[in-house]
Amino acid sequence: MLVAANWKMNGSKVANETLIKGVIAGFSDAESVNNDVAICPPFVYIDSVGQLLADSEVRLGAQNVSHLEIGAYTGEVSPSMLKDMACRYVIVGHSERRSLYAEGDQLVAQKFVSVTKQDLIPILCVGELLEEREACDTNDVIARQLDAVIDLAGIENFKNAIIAYEPVWAIGTGKTATPKQAQEVHEFIRLRLARHDVAIANDIRILYGGSVNANNAQDLFSMADIDGGLIGGASLIVDDFLSICKAMR
Ligand code: PEP
Repeated sequence: MLVAANWKMNGSKVANETLIKGVIAGFSDAESVNNDVAICPPFVYIDSVGQLLADSEVRLGAQNVSHLEIGAYTGEVSPSMLKDMACRYVIVGHSERRSLYAEGDQLVAQKFVSVTKQDLIPILCVGELLEEREACDTNDVIARQLDAVIDLAGIENFKNAIIAYEPVWAIGTGKTATPKQAQEVHEFIRLRLARHDVAIANDIRILYGGSVNANNAQDLFSMADIDGGLIGGASLIVDDFLSICKAMR
């Protein structure tokens, strides 16, 4: 399983150091991390957070990336730069990127492809809006978001990928999908991938994200098709993040 922290646009040099030292100390108290844990800080802190994590089991990730590799693209960060900084994971298609920065399915698919070309692991986010759920369109939305990436990247590029199901209505709202609601969509995602490749579908890790906290993580992670979590707000609080990590099966 994997728990990945999405710090979003939070942090400072001092706060990051305190948070990371707390997380690493929490793991050394316990039996050690049997599962994977990752932290995705803002780009500007990638280097310093990477150094703080260097001797730990916790891996480094990024929250976004350019779909392009090099050139006159002011303000962008390429996949090879992230690789250069020893990143392992890259979040692509987070709903905040889709809604606030107008990233459509095609751009998300291009980002996914460019990440896999650098042997980085994409964490592909998919999820429906509240009105889409209420209109019973959840599966159609998820299928559209997934198919755009499968069509461009090819199913073979999902071999080392991770998918995060993040219902948009549950992100940062304190409203979590019930374990049953999440499980239904996770199963749908696995079946959708299985139409192309059963082995890849069975092996892929599908994370749940959306107001996961220390109290609900265990119930969510106990579901058959939930293989961990993508954690926003609760990843900024040492004890909460550690509890979520320790809730992994
Ligand atoms: C996220 O932004 O990926 C997320 C899941 O946020 P939160 O945990 O705060 O809902």
